[in-house]
Amino acid sequence: MARYIGPVCRLCRREGEKLFLKGEKCSKSCCPINNPKRAVAPGQHGSSRKKLSEYGLQLREKQKAKRIYGVLESQFRNYFTIADRLRGVTGENLLRLLEMRLDNAVYRLGYGRSRTEARQVVRHGLMRVNGKNVNIPSYELKVGDVIEVKDRSKSAQRFKDILEVTASRVTPEWMAVERDNLRGTVTAAPNRDQIETNVRETLIVELYSK
Ligand code: SF4
Repeated sequence: MARYIGPVCRLCRREGEKLFLKGEKCSKSCCPINNPKRAVAPGQHGSSRKKLSEYGLQLREKQKAKRIYGVLESQFRNYFTIADRLRGVTGENLLRLLEMRLDNAVYRLGYGRSRTEARQVVRHGLMRVNGKNVNIPSYELKVGDVIEVKDRSKSAQRFKDILEVTASRVTPEWMAVERDNLRGTVTAAPNRDQIETNVRETLIVELYSK
């Protein structure tokens, strides 16, 4: 599956807020969003931000969600189609589907400094789900699934570095983590209150429902 490989800070600048795409750098003072002069949309006319229309707000919210979870347009649209068919609130279903991607779960557990790194860890074949090798970042987890770093990678310097940076990361309520064993379990399907994101999913539903 294709992914965005361009500069990521410009994506935050475009949305006008921190999307936390770079791991530890995002909480440092060098983040462009912390600097009023640099926190403008990219491009020649970036500093002359106009008031957005209703459609513009909905579009920007969709773009923001795609960027946070590292999903491209067609895949995001597929998630929406699935979410719309499921029982319950479509927006909440959409966020739940995105949260239960393997790369996101690896990030939430603290085995990746950013979602990009979590995705890379999965792509490099360093993760197992229920004892089986899984190298598909979009792999959809189920309640009860156990995610684990492969035994031979557990002592790797890379994971020591990652764990050091993510030591203070709070594990979501719908997961249980065993950091000593580099393992985690999905204990429940998250509801909206348990999904920590500033995405306003109702705007995305309104956009796709036009
Ligand atoms: Fe976004 Fe992180 Fe870059 Fe700041 S440092 S602009 S939060 S990706």
